[in-house]
Amino acid sequence: MQGQADLVVKGGLVVSGTGIGRLDLLVRDGKVAGLAPDIPLSEGQRAIEASGAYVLPGIVDAHNHPVYADRIESFSRSCAFGGITTVIPFIGAVRNWGGEGKTSATVQAFIGEARRTSYLDFSVHAVFTAQDAAEEELPALMDMGVISFKCFMTYPRRGMMMPDDRLVRIMALAARLGGLCMVHAENGFLIDHLVDGSLKQGQVDNEYYGPSQPTIAEAEALFRACTYAEVTGCPLYAVHLSAREVPDLLRYFKRRGLRLFGETCPQYLSLTNDEVVKHGALAKIGPPLRASEDVEAMWEGLRSGALDTVASDSCNMTRQQKRLLAGNMRPEEAPPAGNIFEARFGAPWAEQMLSVVYHKGVNEGRITLPRLVQALCENPAKVFGLYPRKGILQPGSDADFVLFDPFQAHTLGAAYQHTNSDYTPFEGWQVVGKPTLVVQRGQVVVEGERLVRPRGQAEYLPGDKAAAAFAPGGVKVG
Ligand SMILES: [Zn+2]
Repeated sequence: MQGQADLVVKGGLVVSGTGIGRLDLLVRDGKVAGLAPDIPLSEGQRAIEASGAYVLPGIVDAHNHPVYADRIESFSRSCAFGGITTVIPFIGAVRNWGGEGKTSATVQAFIGEARRTSYLDFSVHAVFTAQDAAEEELPALMDMGVISFKCFMTYPRRGMMMPDDRLVRIMALAARLGGLCMVHAENGFLIDHLVDGSLKQGQVDNEYYGPSQPTIAEAEALFRACTYAEVTGCPLYAVHLSAREVPDLLRYFKRRGLRLFGETCPQYLSLTNDEVVKHGALAKIGPPLRASEDVEAMWEGLRSGALDTVASDSCNMTRQQKRLLAGNMRPEEAPPAGNIFEARFGAPWAEQMLSVVYHKGVNEGRITLPRLVQALCENPAKVFGLYPRKGILQPGSDADFVLFDPFQAHTLGAAYQHTNSDYTPFEGWQVVGKPTLVVQRGQVVVEGERLVRPRGQAEYLPGDKAAAAFAPGGVKVG
């Protein structure tokens, strides 16, 4: 911000993907202007005392859906309280996901709304379903800075699955245009077959959901998407990976030279199918919460570099919305009580993401703090063409940072969150480590329990496809 006094963050432990250093941080005009062991305060400068705290780059949440309970305004507010400073929502013309008609028009409308109402800087991924003219829309979207787009390999009966022949053609086109294809990798036909079997037997209780969505259905689709990507020369980003088979598959295709990136989510690193058995619809997501072997496989994948990023896949709903029939918002069309297959997919995860990944990952010894910063900050910024403006604290970067108190014990729960959703699957969790101050481009967004920066200061961040990690000469992920 022009004219703003310089800011010096004193005494903190600055974390990057390569290490931790006791460094002061100088912020000028919203950018990082310097990092040094001791930066003396000069006339007119403001100081933020950070002794005893980590100074993390702001989290880049590369996967979320500001729909149902929240629009971008309340969603970004909730994210800010969780230490997130950049959000990349999926925007498409899917019913209830932001509009109808052309994807590019829906994206344009979203960018306008987010400029007016978002609390945080944002970029955009496009979503294509079978109904969308993806092949025609791609060039226009790329011109708008939307360089990544997702296709579904599942949900054929909801009209969302991209048929394989079109997926291959879209990948070939993306390869020519220099874009990044993303996939929701699950075999929808297999899942529908298993769901039909359950329904025929009247097996509609919570415990039948998990077995209808087996890990092999995710592994098969991932292998197929990687095959298409390799043959067409298209870089690929696989979202919300959850299955134990996944890390080996990612390693296999990365070794073959595919520009491939794997994402998992806090829920797949912390919760199991027991939540669905206990809480039913509230914990129903796709892919499903799985077994503890899958949870540990995701941690191993993250440690070893098979998986590259962690993002929330937040799709915030209220309890009431959760109980409505998929594809409908009218209470009179609520599903028969107890039929897990009729309940909506999605849950709120973003605000608790940093605390949960820190607690389960760093406190419990599964990953280092620099690895957390790679997965939550640097790598998503690198993959989506936002680095080094976002994702790192180095001279010239945006001064987006989080003071994180590693000693603060707190309880997660709906009463403490800032979304319009009225529940969290992390209800009652005791964790140690909390974001206490969130700053974007030198401006305080959240301080403790207080929202400081008004909405409408957010900037749209077009992706830079030439600098992105998926580009042939692009930056390398950690
Ligand atoms: Zn998603």
